[in-house]
Amino acid sequence: MTDQASPSEDVPSRLSTLIASLQAQGVTDTAVLQAIKSTPRDLFTPDLFQDRVWEDSALPIACGQTISQPFIVGLMTQALRLEPRARVLEIGTGSGYQTTILSKLSRLVYTIERYRTLMKAAESRFKQLELTNIVTKFGDGGLGWPEQAPFDRIMVTAAASDEPVALLAQLKPNGILVAPIGKGPVQVLKRYTADGHGGFAVEAMTEVRFVPLLDGVAKES
Ligand code: SAH
Repeated sequence: MTDQASPSEDVPSRLSTLIASLQAQGVTDTAVLQAIKSTPRDLFTPDLFQDRVWEDSALPIACGQTISQPFIVGLMTQALRLEPRARVLEIGTGSGYQTTILSKLSRLVYTIERYRTLMKAAESRFKQLELTNIVTKFGDGGLGWPEQAPFDRIMVTAAASDEPVALLAQLKPNGILVAPIGKGPVQVLKRYTADGHGGFAVEAMTEVRFVPLLDGVAKES
């Protein structure tokens, strides 16, 4: 981008362009679009990438991780079919951007991150935005959060190599889990809907590129 206009003049039009692009790509749920619109992505993005905040691309954050691409955030959030009373579990807090969007569309969001540094930074953003319905945990999200289970919805924002069995077991009957599944650099975004009898309807949505879901917590901060 070569646009030199000041950020204050620029943000509304860049944001409108981004929202229009998400709509064109199939994110049509107005509540989801509104949640994205009202979330300041710049707050979640490192200084180095401030000029790219309103692009529809994933960007690097600390600890070698990424803040997700807005289109994928919209697509995954829409796929979750959130209801205002939902209790949601998110695996992979990262910057807290996706968490913030989930928090605007549900009653309570539980979020787990394996890097303490990312967790702390996300917590301070939630505080700054006065979001009071987010509960954070430093830990291995692959194990879910058994003490708080079952959940109405679960979103995994790191790629699981296989079917996330432990997480599916923490879903309520008729609950929905959305996760990227696959071992390589490209995975398939899948939606699992619990049938209430221990089984799941599985839909393959699209190809995505996520950082891997890793075992255990990070040793470095
Ligand atoms: N939703 C985030 C994107 C996060 S990238 C955002 O909007 O910014 C994926 C995140 O998952 C990374 O922060 C990574 O550290 C975390 N992660 C990977 N494996 C994990 C695990 N087992 N438990 C918890 N977090 C995990």
